[in-house]
Amino acid sequence: MSALHPDWLNPDRWLACARNADARNVQQALTAECPGIAELAMLLSPAAGMALDRLATRARFLTRRQFGHTIPLYVPLYLSDFCKNGCVYCGFASDRRRPRRRLERDDIIAEMDSLKAMGFEEILLLTGERTPHADFDYIRAAVILAAERFDLVTVEVFPMTREEYHGLSEAGCTGMTMYQETYDPAVYERMHRWGPKRDYQYRLETPARALDAGLRTVGLGALLGLADPAWEVLALFQHVQTLRKQYWRAGISASFPRIRPQLGGFTPPFPVSDRFLVQAICAFRICMPDLPLALSTREPVWFRDGIAGIGINKMSIASRTTVGGYHDGNATDGGQFKVSDSRSIEDFCAMLKNKELEPVFKNWDAAYRDISQSA
Ligand code: SF4
Repeated sequence: MSALHPDWLNPDRWLACARNADARNVQQALTAECPGIAELAMLLSPAAGMALDRLATRARFLTRRQFGHTIPLYVPLYLSDFCKNGCVYCGFASDRRRPRRRLERDDIIAEMDSLKAMGFEEILLLTGERTPHADFDYIRAAVILAAERFDLVTVEVFPMTREEYHGLSEAGCTGMTMYQETYDPAVYERMHRWGPKRDYQYRLETPARALDAGLRTVGLGALLGLADPAWEVLALFQHVQTLRKQYWRAGISASFPRIRPQLGGFTPPFPVSDRFLVQAICAFRICMPDLPLALSTREPVWFRDGIAGIGINKMSIASRTTVGGYHDGNATDGGQFKVSDSRSIEDFCAMLKNKELEPVFKNWDAAYRDISQSA
């Protein structure tokens, strides 16, 4: 779609196939020995949408073969909602009229203790853009506190320099998540009205920078609803493939967040149907059988219950998207977006067990941090 794309990002090439593949192509993709992007395009087609049961059966088989019956659980912790970016789809954008807050050291400990008491061993720390309220030193201090309490600490914060990611790694951070939001540079420019996040290229290169610096895992994703979802899924696939070739020892995962209602009332130009989301997840699983695929509480209960173990093999639960949401009863004002699945951990785990899936709170040990840093 634009000359700004790096060479590896060319989903246009596959879009015709994603639109026009027929039932024969779908069968060919479902039975391919080593499916790649051509098969992914076929499985994203309307013809594949007519064969959703078959996609789901294949995805479920591959998920169980690769990950067994386990669903690792993680929980997000919002450290700060200060932001200077103008992302149209976000309740934390700097033009939203809302009280802002950051957690101080004691608050962070209280939140972490609450999450630890719930049983979590994997925590994802979040903020908005880099501001004087939440800068590198602040994130690093929070990582240190988290690493003292949790086996696995990852961050979803502003893009950092290589040196900063190295500093986070040394502080006990294992990985980072950075969604490109949209891989289409023109749409990206419209959706990110102001602030440092307008730099598409810098964001696109950030996961590679983090891996170069010593982080072990990266989570990628596109915020579905901003541009043609089939195109975005193809682009996400190419991003994963490219990183996997270059960083073959890294743990790369993908997510499929859909835009949720938020302060600001943004309506997505390309709303993504439930059926297409299932299709995209199953298609991704079929074409990348060993790639961890995560799903957050953005999605409603019935959807999460249905897709658990069918493509998706990692989930969050009991999430609050407000700063201080776990220990402060007053922290109930609108968060970054509206959570759809607000079940307790107990109820969620009972659902998983009913489906013969095993919730996993600990999937990594803090001792591995030193090993991976010295390797
Ligand atoms: S998506 Fe992130 S960077 Fe954009 S406004 Fe929201 S918090 Fe800020």
